[in-house]
Amino acid sequence: MKTIGLIGGMSWESTSLYYSALNQGVRETLGGLHSAKICLYSVDFHEIEQLQRLGKWQDTADILVKAAKALEAGGADLFLICSNTMHKVAAEVQAAVKIPLLHIADATANELLTDGITKVGLLGTAFTMQQEFYKGRLVEEFGIEVITPNAEQQQKVHEVIYQELCLGQIDKESKRYYLNVIEDLFDQGAQAIILGCTEITLLVQQADTSIPLYDTTAIHAQSAVEAALDNV
Ligand code: GLU
Repeated sequence: MKTIGLIGGMSWESTSLYYSALNQGVRETLGGLHSAKICLYSVDFHEIEQLQRLGKWQDTADILVKAAKALEAGGADLFLICSNTMHKVAAEVQAAVKIPLLHIADATANELLTDGITKVGLLGTAFTMQQEFYKGRLVEEFGIEVITPNAEQQQKVHEVIYQELCLGQIDKESKRYYLNVIEDLFDQGAQAIILGCTEITLLVQQADTSIPLYDTTAIHAQSAVEAALDNV
């Protein structure tokens, strides 16, 4: 079994979901007392969030590069960045180490294409919904068309992530709001919705709607389990 490196803490609310999913995935495959070999480097999200807001992405990349190097030195065979947003600096982080980064958008796109989905709605932070590092990858490398909520909805979706979900707060009104946004995207032709922020699954789950949801946290973790158990 390979050792999975995690750059976590963005936020830790979702990193704990990764930790559970990785261990459950390994137990389901190998049975008994088997559990995942994990090396976790967890950052202080306060620092990351401030740098994001100031647009100081190079500084966030420096923090993640340091984390990736520590994971490599600590014995990780592959690694994940446990945040969709922080994949903005994925190329630079990958370039700093030899171990492979499993990209969250690639894992998600592969699932979508397996299910024959070529037009999706995307929920996430404003960075993820507005910038090209994520949407562009889905379009250019996988041919998946991406639609996003309107400007007002994007702002609210973004605020709920940072002001509630990353603090572990689950609010009924916010859940209703998200479900309305999901329906709007479906009405505009999305065949499915990407929960493109690793905390959204705390708020909205598949049981809440008949519209197919793609939970990036679960998909990303499952792709890591498969990679770690590749030749077991
Ligand atoms: N975990 C989130 C994501 O998947 C947002 C927090 C962050 O900015 O990293 O995008």
